[in-house]
Amino acid sequence: MEIKNAQFVISNTDVNKCPDTGLPEYAFIGRSNVGKSSLINMLTNRKGLADTSSMPGKTQLINHFIINEEWYLVDLPGYGYAQRGKEGREKIRRIIDTYIMDREQMTCLFVLIDCRHEPQKIDMEFMQWLGENGVPFCMVFTKIDKLGPVRLKENIAAYKERMMETWEELPPIFETSSEKKVGRTELLDYIEMINK
Ligand code: GDP
Repeated sequence: MEIKNAQFVISNTDVNKCPDTGLPEYAFIGRSNVGKSSLINMLTNRKGLADTSSMPGKTQLINHFIINEEWYLVDLPGYGYAQRGKEGREKIRRIIDTYIMDREQMTCLFVLIDCRHEPQKIDMEFMQWLGENGVPFCMVFTKIDKLGPVRLKENIAAYKERMMETWEELPPIFETSSEKKVGRTELLDYIEMINK
């Protein structure tokens, strides 16, 4: 898919105030610092696009971007910020849960995972919850330029193994590097395919 147009539309915490055009939405989520803004900038080929959403305060919001006038790219708040405290984390979690469960036009959720780590409890629990609730999602490994091919393969295999302990089928898996522009075509083609 060619990105002809990408524009920031609106930020908010209230799912009811999200755009009501009915266009399909593809949402991106992950822990803070996973590389979400970089990935969104890489995908849209707009250098500062997602920076709007990483400005202070905006990281806790649902950010909508309209792409090619056809679909929304949705930047969801990062989960598991240690510095927010329990109350802050629960508030964010409610925003995320409500969006994911109530937003009918949410077509696929891309769960970003830093490829450098072993399977993390918070990511595993989150994906478990998605699976139990029948939410369509993909796993997107980020920053693959930071690992050699052997370690990368091992780390992804560890995640797959953990997933297969619970699920018979794995979700689609993407390997990306915003630094080296890897995975862009694959992700955009996937969106184009399910958007049809
Ligand atoms: P966010 O908090 O999830 O939006 O993460 P950012 O996109 O701001 O990235 C967090 C840090 O990781 C920044 O220092 C980025 O430069 C770095 N980063 C993000 N993506 C990549 C990548 O693909 N490769 C490398 N080497 N660094 C990356």
